[in-house]
Amino acid sequence: MGKVGFGVAVGIAAVSCAVAAAVVGKRVRSRRKWMRVVGVLKELEEGCGTPVSRLKHVVDAMAVEMHAGLASERGSKLKMLLTFVDKLPTGSEKGIYYALDLGGTNFRVLRVQLGGRRSGIVRHDVERKPIPEHLMTSTSEDLFDFIATSLKAFFDQENVKDSDLSPSSRRELGFTFSFPVNQTTVSSGILMKWTKGFSIHDMVGKDVSESLHQAMSRQGLNMHIAALVNDTVGTLALGHYNDEDTVAAVIIGTGTNACYFERADAIIKSQGFPDSSGGMVVNMEWGNFWSSHLPRTSYDIELDAESPNPNDQGFEKMISGMYLGEIVRRVILRMSKESDVFGPISSSLCKAFILRTPLMSTMHEDESPDLQEVARILDEVLGIHDVPLKVRKLVVNICDVVTRRAARLAAAGIVGILKKIGRDGSGGVAGSRAKGPSSSNRLKRTVVAVEGGLYSNYRMFREYLNDAVAEILGEELAPYVILKVAEDGSGIGAALLAATYSSPENVDT
Ligand code: ADP
Ligand code: MG
Repeated sequence: MGKVGFGVAVGIAAVSCAVAAAVVGKRVRSRRKWMRVVGVLKELEEGCGTPVSRLKHVVDAMAVEMHAGLASERGSKLKMLLTFVDKLPTGSEKGIYYALDLGGTNFRVLRVQLGGRRSGIVRHDVERKPIPEHLMTSTSEDLFDFIATSLKAFFDQENVKDSDLSPSSRRELGFTFSFPVNQTTVSSGILMKWTKGFSIHDMVGKDVSESLHQAMSRQGLNMHIAALVNDTVGTLALGHYNDEDTVAAVIIGTGTNACYFERADAIIKSQGFPDSSGGMVVNMEWGNFWSSHLPRTSYDIELDAESPNPNDQGFEKMISGMYLGEIVRRVILRMSKESDVFGPISSSLCKAFILRTPLMSTMHEDESPDLQEVARILDEVLGIHDVPLKVRKLVVNICDVVTRRAARLAAAGIVGILKKIGRDGSGGVAGSRAKGPSSSNRLKRTVVAVEGGLYSNYRMFREYLNDAVAEILGEELAPYVILKVAEDGSGIGAALLAATYSSPENVDT
């Protein structure tokens, strides 16, 4: 080999070495980046851990807070509002009843026809209307005029004879108003504060039913407001109508809340509540529950700090549909800052609440072999393009961790309620009719009504929740506790309560 040839050979060798070194270097770097991202996921998994031992602490904390909230006005972050609903529909109600449902995604007017004993709900008609946005921050008169006008339009279209109405021949109305209300009777209450984007200053501190009544009068409507409730109470009413073993109701949609039937002697702050009564429904406002046992991560802390209501609704921020997608977005953003596996950080990825929870569930439940839906949503919603399969899998993992924690915490909350009323096996209170020593004799069938888009539409969430309830309760007790979907309970339930509270004639005896 001549000098020139030798030099070329050496040169080629050097270049290929350099190329090889560069390739190896790149691989090492990309491996390091990948490991950093995996580290973020690991840390998330640990931070969101919900072993059953921890869930049991949450169960205990929920029961303790419930006690404290009932014992005194500022005893707990749980408001434990008395509803004055001391009886629930049984299935014997008959006639046509109406309901208004305000406080969910849509405003709704309903008509429900009840067939009396054993015939159940013969039919129900619903009209949904979005609330015009300007009314959410306008005056109470504007808002209630809109409601009364919608109600009038609903009546004008219907073909109902007075004789088809309730046996008392009045139009009886149940009003579901899902905001914090200080209830004064079963059919009236004072608005404590607005939530969910509503802000109508001249309404706070006023009687909600009175405002509706005045607006109805302006429209020439003569109706009787028989019940003023919130969506959880409506759901409990529907659950109880369908199954008399229903003792509690939980809503898991955009937000989350729960209510349950409490014994009279457990309601210490009596507030005019007659001792002779058998108890009443308590609206927990459980979205505001807090306990040091809740597994909280830096993502939760930042989400809370940047929210319009910091230090408020802590439980809700870990559980409900409003927030789960946003937690996932925050994790992806953090990973993007640590490494470029998601490519350059897009402006979309930096936008709070851009990843809505239904999109998160679509990614989580993507069953295509190459996770096409994940790729599409990352691309279209978060501006993250062309990521390899392993990165898409990572995103599915994040969704799984966030949803699993949410569902398991909600499950612990539910068991907390059962514990408070002695239906979790620990107190053995359940069977007052219990005979004999066998423990299963002490167990009583217990139904919890569940409603809300997160639970109904997000299969993985629902499965994690159901599994966790069974896991916390244990094999012996789990078969006695049944979660039942009470679809549209917030509206239908209010109509049922209108029947229960309108007149004794309205019930078959
Ligand atoms: P609201 O809470 O306003 O009364 P819903 O009970 O219907 O209304 O709940 C709607 C919420 O449920 C949405 O805001 C969303 O967070 C959640 N949700 C609806 N559909 C899905 C879905 N397919 N997957 C995950 N979450 C969903
Ligand atoms: Mg709702």
